[in-house]
Amino acid sequence: MTAGYKDIATPTRTREIIEKYGFHLKKSLGQNFLTDINILHNIIDVAELTKEKAVIEVGPGIGALTEQLARAAGKVMALEIDQRLLPILEETLAPYDNITVVHGDVLKLDVPALIKEHLEGYESVSVVANLPYYVTTPILMGLLESGIKLDKIVVMIQKEVAERIAAKPGTKDYGSLSVAAQFYAEARVEMIVPASVFVPRPNVDSAVIKLAIRKEPVVAVKDEALFFRVVKASFAQRRKTLQNNLVTNLFGKDRKELATQALERAGIEPNRRGETLSLQEFATLANTIYDFMNENR
Ligand code: SAM
Repeated sequence: MTAGYKDIATPTRTREIIEKYGFHLKKSLGQNFLTDINILHNIIDVAELTKEKAVIEVGPGIGALTEQLARAAGKVMALEIDQRLLPILEETLAPYDNITVVHGDVLKLDVPALIKEHLEGYESVSVVANLPYYVTTPILMGLLESGIKLDKIVVMIQKEVAERIAAKPGTKDYGSLSVAAQFYAEARVEMIVPASVFVPRPNVDSAVIKLAIRKEPVVAVKDEALFFRVVKASFAQRRKTLQNNLVTNLFGKDRKELATQALERAGIEPNRRGETLSLQEFATLANTIYDFMNENR
């Protein structure tokens, strides 16, 4: 704790702040504030911040995580959609001179331009946040697909989504989200967090997930858009075989033969299910289909 300042992240202080401003939490904006300092400290440890590094926070709320980030990192840029929180943040974060709060929707803001404006010159940029759960997947996939050079993404999200993101082939949680996220990053569930540490309590348990962004692609893919189409098609109906899913959702019924031939050439058994394929196998399959489509135009 910085000398003389109470942590925001306690149930008492959180309630005090909410009452002082007569703030009504909006469920529709995923406003569940963290009130457990130990969990925040764990998040900071996982993020491995230093004063040479910068960090982006999505949704600072009343600033509980933001102040911990400001103590650990060189600079914090916090993006908050709810205008009513801005005067509150101005007061709660007043002791810190290394935080910029930007008002806006993370899905609409020009994040690369904001990084250039506020975070240039730092060794790396990570995203650390307790995400609003109603937009977890669009925020994460948006960041991963954006091409923004990030070091890590360390976020609190619904437990169930965290498990899907980090799932390994052959498990029930493994799906197109696992493949898409693991294409860009190494994913690990760091801790499970009970609903009781939030005000108000969400209806689901939460988890902190770490996505260590890959510096080099883990698999060589000839056409990224096609790779993702193949992955999506392969998981479209989980109980169907890979061949049937590819016929129905990619090649079309009148080109069934092509699906069979492509799988054969890729060395993948047509009766397997999408959920058993590794990232490498999806890459091999997508690259084979790419060559195949070019030959059979
Ligand atoms: N960081 C705080 C904490 O840990 O206590 C608050 C986390 S709360 C789960 C999510 C925050 O994200 C809220 O402050 C909410 O207003 C904000 N938010 C919701 N949708 C957003 C969006 N599209 N862009 C930016 N912030 C958003």
